[in-house]
Amino acid sequence: MRKTAFICDESYFWHDAGSAALVLPPGGYIQPDGSAESPESKRRFKGLMERSGLYDKLTLIKPTPATEEQLKYFHTSAHIENVKKLSKSGGGDCGALANVGNGSYEIAVLAVGGAITAVDAVVNGKCDNAYALTRPPGHHAVADMGMGYCIFNNAAIAALYARKELGLQRVMVLDWDVHHGNGTEDAFYKDPNVLFISIHQESYFPSGRGEINQIGEGEGIGTTVNIPLPAASGDACYMYAMEQVVKPIVDNFKPQLIIISAGQDANIFDPSARMMVTTDGYTKMTKLMRELAEEHCGGKLVALHEGGYSTAYVPFCSHAVVEEMSGFKTDVEDPFLPVYGSTPYNVLANHQKARVDEVRAVHLK
Ligand code: ZN
Repeated sequence: MRKTAFICDESYFWHDAGSAALVLPPGGYIQPDGSAESPESKRRFKGLMERSGLYDKLTLIKPTPATEEQLKYFHTSAHIENVKKLSKSGGGDCGALANVGNGSYEIAVLAVGGAITAVDAVVNGKCDNAYALTRPPGHHAVADMGMGYCIFNNAAIAALYARKELGLQRVMVLDWDVHHGNGTEDAFYKDPNVLFISIHQESYFPSGRGEINQIGEGEGIGTTVNIPLPAASGDACYMYAMEQVVKPIVDNFKPQLIIISAGQDANIFDPSARMMVTTDGYTKMTKLMRELAEEHCGGKLVALHEGGYSTAYVPFCSHAVVEEMSGFKTDVEDPFLPVYGSTPYNVLANHQKARVDEVRAVHLK
């Protein structure tokens, strides 16, 4: 068993993502509904860990709020001030589909702080690896505004914290959220010291981002890797991409810390995407990243919760990730397996293989 830290705070569940139907604000023919980014999938994930006994095996660490100086590692003062103002005055959108609720500023600052706390705990040896169940998520947030439910970019600031305050030379962020991690990519597009790999559904959100030929700029050419997979890719395709693209690039880069932007919305039941990853896929991807971390950086692995909107299934996928990180095997079996047992989630189709081979060819250069 490994010593796995778990970072969470009750306030993360209290962030008000606003009234919406999926992502759109109500109005016209759209009846008001809860935002897809509700706390429910996250709270149920925590609840499942408590019921399975996994929670008792974790090292609980309280998050410390990020400082304004740390927010400014990536964000503009204008964006920070705008979020602060909206948070005090009843809320509103701080960019593109990123609602700030009443009091959300402090929660978002604590979410960035949770990511920093996780990195600090892992790098300074308080634990072997760490999972931060933070909310709001972060990977879409760009320097001067929020986007796609994200207010501040937790992963980007955590990686910059590792570089600036802990003195690490090489950090990597693997973003397996089903949407492209555009904000995090922005932060490191010209930076050769942070390897950013995004594996996502092709031509999806945000549009025009995450394409194969977007590989970084200037000194950063080659340290941005985009793996846009065709819709309906499942465990087999994800693992093929992990083994054929992610592993050789990580072996070459030799990171001193691995951060995963862990959005479990590529899951087979997610309302926000069209992929077919199962708990088994998440276990295998986590195992590979854990082994790469053990090989290159003494096991230093941090997972930061991002998206994931199936309230029924995200808890099982996220539970599988933490189970694999910790090495503690509970008796939780995926109860949904009989439902998807006959779907081709574990078959590598020719067009899926071709896409991964294409990415590999671009980066072999
Ligand atoms: Zn997502």
